[in-house]
Amino acid sequence: MNEPNQTWRQATACVHAGSHLDELTGGVCTPIYTSTAYSYPNRANLNIYPRYFNVANQQAVARKVAALEKGEEGLVFGSGMAAISGMLLAHLSPGDHAIFQADLYGGTYHLAAVELKRLGVEIYWAHTVEEFEAAVRPNTRLLYIESPSNPLLHCIDLAAVAQLARKHRILSLIDNTFATPVNQNPLEFGIDAVLHSATKYLNGHSDLNAGVVVSSKEIIGRAREFAESHGGMLESHACYQLERGLKTLFLRVKAHNENAAHLAAHLQTHPAIARVNYPGLAAHPDHAVAARQMRGFGGMISFELREPGRMDAVLARLRLITPALSLGGVESLICAPSRTSHRGLSPGERRRAGISDGLLRLSVGVEDARDLVEDIDRALES
Ligand SMILES: *Cc1c(COP(=O)(O)O)cnc(C)c1O
Repeated sequence: MNEPNQTWRQATACVHAGSHLDELTGGVCTPIYTSTAYSYPNRANLNIYPRYFNVANQQAVARKVAALEKGEEGLVFGSGMAAISGMLLAHLSPGDHAIFQADLYGGTYHLAAVELKRLGVEIYWAHTVEEFEAAVRPNTRLLYIESPSNPLLHCIDLAAVAQLARKHRILSLIDNTFATPVNQNPLEFGIDAVLHSATKYLNGHSDLNAGVVVSSKEIIGRAREFAESHGGMLESHACYQLERGLKTLFLRVKAHNENAAHLAAHLQTHPAIARVNYPGLAAHPDHAVAARQMRGFGGMISFELREPGRMDAVLARLRLITPALSLGGVESLICAPSRTSHRGLSPGERRRAGISDGLLRLSVGVEDARDLVEDIDRALES
């Protein structure tokens, strides 16, 4: 096995960290280990079993992502939500208090607002580090953030959140899906655990559901203990596919960053567009925070049409960019949060959350940026 090497840079770790060489043939790819039963003799570990998260393909992915996020250990799940629910359920108990960033991925919002509440966890929603601090109580156990957030790309000061959490001995978790480990390593700022929907950029090809968490041995140990009972692991074929996707993560994210920066700058000057949200733009309210903690600003953009009534016509005229949910793949996708991720909110709640009816979220792919600009410009022509 390629032990993650501390001196490897990200591009190298994407290709090599964690991968197993094929001992039988010398093949350079991790073989797909399909067994659910492993013989006892000559085995140091007598309890190899897919649901115990310890099959070679699961470990290859876990080690690769742990190396990329600069953490001690990783755990690979069957979806992003399995990773998020696994971490939250492993570390929260009835009577605990948990603080969540208010603008979260819809699935996480529902998990906290409905399921965790049902299990007797007190949930508090807050926007800023100051609001987080004011919300801390003696029974606060956990603080959960997302940066950049969906769909307005808010960025929160990771070092300040980590410092607050450590001061009050609270576990801090971040969903780092939008940034990817190529652009942002929250553990370096003192955040305790990093979560990813690997369905998005880590796999990168819109053909697989998976999730990952990276943290210390101790925190992952508790998560694994719970997850073995919960049963949400990823099986070997899918692990192999995810490992393969991860090998090009660095290259893909570089292209996503460049394309999104190009498109954001272009859209900012477009007369049909009222506002562009991209942390790489100097005009973004969190640009300074983002510049301090991100090496690149990612592939996600959102923007507001001046005339929301034209939304359907604009989407219908796109030929290259596909109107679709999800994000983080090589192909560019666009969606209207008011009709998709945030359709469950009332108009008033959406307004307060900053989700206007003319808002579009664009997951910028790795196509040639000139083709993307041409497609959008044509669609925006009145
Ligand atoms: C998609 C997504 C999730 C959930 O991941 P699944 O793989 O769909 O379960 C969580 N967080 C963010 C930011 C996401 O975009």
